Amino acid sequence: MQGYIFEADEQKRAPEKSSAELSLLFDTAKVCRQCSLAESRLNFVFGEGNHSADLVVIGEAPGAEEDASGRPFVGRSGQLLDKILLAASFRREEVYICNILKCRPPGNRNPLSYEITSCTPWLLKQLQIIKPKVILVLGKVAANTLLGNTLSLGTMRGKLVQWRGYDCFITYHPAALLRNPNWKKECWEDIQVMMRHYATICDADKLTEKRVKA
Ligand code: SF4
Repeated sequence: MQGYIFEADEQKRAPEKSSAELSLLFDTAKVCRQCSLAESRLNFVFGEGNHSADLVVIGEAPGAEEDASGRPFVGRSGQLLDKILLAASFRREEVYICNILKCRPPGNRNPLSYEITSCTPWLLKQLQIIKPKVILVLGKVAANTLLGNTLSLGTMRGKLVQWRGYDCFITYHPAALLRNPNWKKECWEDIQVMMRHYATICDADKLTEKRVKA
């Protein structure tokens, strides 16, 4: 990935340094044509939010509205995600939101394995810069893709999962919750489990801000 220099240190970067590095990464990634999704995309959807966020939210890939706007999780799914985050005491701008794939698969089909292989390095670079304490993975496809398994969402959700040294939690994709509102209760249970873990690893100042629900 020419044009981007990755530092291998493990320390959380200063916010301004994270912003500068993410900007550099964005400038390099936005012209990516490593898979055929570059041919059909309207916009490259890098991600947005707090460049030194403790919580990163990862979905599978941009949909039609994300492709049109160049922003992750907009439209009805995005509005529901915002509500879920707010219920967990996070404003959208406090966290970082992105997808595994940065370009929309036609017709919102599932990512192909070569697309995942091509695009995952961008996500890994983002995470190396942001250094989140917790990652929230949205939906079965995203979780299967990251974890390299075929497990059901029911098997993976609601518990701590380690992935590449990151503390991850998996729950329903907001689009699935819009299709089946009965799953919202389970989603909220997953978020509460995540928040309890967040509370154990977050510094005292942030803990007082978060009003973690027991
Ligand atoms: S999906 Fe990822 S790998 Fe494929 S062209 Fe877009 S940025 Fe590049």
